[in-house]
Amino acid sequence: MSDIQHFKMFINGEWVESSSNKKIETLNPENNEVWATVPEANEKDVDNAVQSAQKAFENSWSTLHPKERAKYLKLIAEQLRSNAEHLGKIETIDTGKLYRETKTQANYIAEYYDYFAGLADKVEGTVVPIDKPDMQVTTTRIPIGVVAAIIPWNSQMLLTAVKLAPALAMGNTVVIKASELAPVTLLEFAKLIEKTGIPKGVVNVITGLGEPCGKALTTHDLVERIAFTGGPDTARHIVKNSSENLSQVSLELGGKSPVAVFEDADQENALNGITAGIFGASGQSCIAGSRLYLHENIYEEFLNKLVEKAKKIKLGGPMEPNTQMGPLNSYKQLETIEKNIKATIDQGGKVRCGGERSSISNKGYYFPATIIECENHNLPVAENELFGPILSVMKFKTEDEVIKLMNDNKYGLSSGVYTSNLARSMRVSKSIRAGIVFVNTYRLISPVAPFGGIKDSGYGKEAGIESIKDYTRIKTTWYNSSDKPMADPFTMG
Ligand code: NAD
Repeated sequence: MSDIQHFKMFINGEWVESSSNKKIETLNPENNEVWATVPEANEKDVDNAVQSAQKAFENSWSTLHPKERAKYLKLIAEQLRSNAEHLGKIETIDTGKLYRETKTQANYIAEYYDYFAGLADKVEGTVVPIDKPDMQVTTTRIPIGVVAAIIPWNSQMLLTAVKLAPALAMGNTVVIKASELAPVTLLEFAKLIEKTGIPKGVVNVITGLGEPCGKALTTHDLVERIAFTGGPDTARHIVKNSSENLSQVSLELGGKSPVAVFEDADQENALNGITAGIFGASGQSCIAGSRLYLHENIYEEFLNKLVEKAKKIKLGGPMEPNTQMGPLNSYKQLETIEKNIKATIDQGGKVRCGGERSSISNKGYYFPATIIECENHNLPVAENELFGPILSVMKFKTEDEVIKLMNDNKYGLSSGVYTSNLARSMRVSKSIRAGIVFVNTYRLISPVAPFGGIKDSGYGKEAGIESIKDYTRIKTTWYNSSDKPMADPFTMG
């Protein structure tokens, strides 16, 4: 027990415990041992965080010149770059994601803060061509107020950056709720925020369960904007919660992203892209390309190569430099995966590799790269988001057919097309109903590229130039430019 570390929450620039003194234990997915505890925030703690954000909004942040706000964003970027290794280590211990990836990501995330720092003073208003003589009407973009950022356990540095950076740039203050499954990374990030000297209360980081903490935050009457990333079931609660405070909501949810490989594709490129898309981060990625359609002429040959490649993926401890896939984050995920695989086999699915939990550790939940042939995409592993390294594979004959298949999907987050025919790549990418289409590549992100889905994958885009406007509201101002008094309303003709 003595090795277990304790971390506090960051509210109003202070490091605090929960007012109930309750704690949440967090597990290291490598061995499923408790490695840290964090406060379990209740309604009172949430209220403290929101009140402090509201005070900071009114007293300093919303009226600070955008250039001044940008300076703090750049300081956050600097802190991230100089502490990427430390943050990466913490995120790896907390989530089980490979250190190679978490360290690189922490470093790259700095780019998001720099990008939005650059945009802070570029958002302008308009003069509208009003249809009334003597009137001038302008629009300005004003900050919204307190933003609640609800973060899932995976890719938390990225998913925080795409909310926090534009929110701060536009003059909002923020309460970040970390996931109870991996809460420490964001508390460590809060230490970096503190080092920038940003005014107290502008950024608050709290830890707690979905209920009561997440619920109290998303129903709080001072919260004006909810930026949520997580699963669709939680999203339904969030939307209901927002009916209490009528806040503006954006939802970044899950996916069952389809990928098609045509017979003319560069096979080596497609094999690498598909492997990255579904087996990167052990498939625990919202854009995981988990539904693969192969053209019938290359089906056997391509699938054999893919299976050979998948079998070679090295499972292991996430800190090890040679590990290619680490453990799953939680037992719940393992259970969901196993249940879906069993049901798929019962319905005729054919496991080509993997399919059963690995025995490399009797503590961590390791699951090997798994490929399952499915006669159609209505089988459970082809239909449900599994958040694991499970690829379902189907066959197609024609371009029209595969477009229909790819669109027959309740989700619409990401998608992929592999073909060397430019005209076809344009036809197919145009026809796919998804927020993101990767052509001859996969699993890329950038601060300048909008990210987000449609259908059950949510609404609202994060990153990219437009996303900054989602953290503003338009104010319309009417100026009377006439020297004459206004007409008496009761004598108008
Ligand atoms: P989750 O939905 O279980 O939890 C997300 C967050 O919501 C957590 O902080 C949780 O505490 C909070 N929450 C739970 N109940 C709540 C409630 N009633 N009110 C307010 N907040 C509540 O998601 P998870 O398991 O942490 O993450 C995996 C899911 O996230 C997957 O579905 C994945 O696809 C999705 N995801 C989407 C994206 C994207 O950008 N589209 C990125 C990463 C993950």
